[in-house]
Amino acid sequence: MAGGAYVVIALAFALATGIVGRGKGSSFFIWFIVGGVVPVLGLIAAFLYRVERAEPERRCPNCGAVVKLYVQVCRRCGEDLHLPEPEDVRPGRLRA
Ligand SMILES: [Zn+2]
Repeated sequence: MAGGAYVVIALAFALATGIVGRGKGSSFFIWFIVGGVVPVLGLIAAFLYRVERAEPERRCPNCGAVVKLYVQVCRRCGEDLHLPEPEDVRPGRLRA
């Protein structure tokens, strides 16, 4: 019975992880697998996924380094980064 309970829990985490992943523009199926294989860590990874990947990016006008839009000081050259022109902003996630 213990094995059955684990399967139920893993399935619940897989579903939750898949839904979170899909909500962030990724693949439900991939995150479903991740959540089922590593139930707790997979769900956490799905939550963190957006933080690193989905933030818009732009180029530092001084040195050309690609930084997240919310970064206010360039990490490479120390340039103060004000809000860029809209055409300089690009989506952070690269989709095939
Ligand atoms: Zn810079």
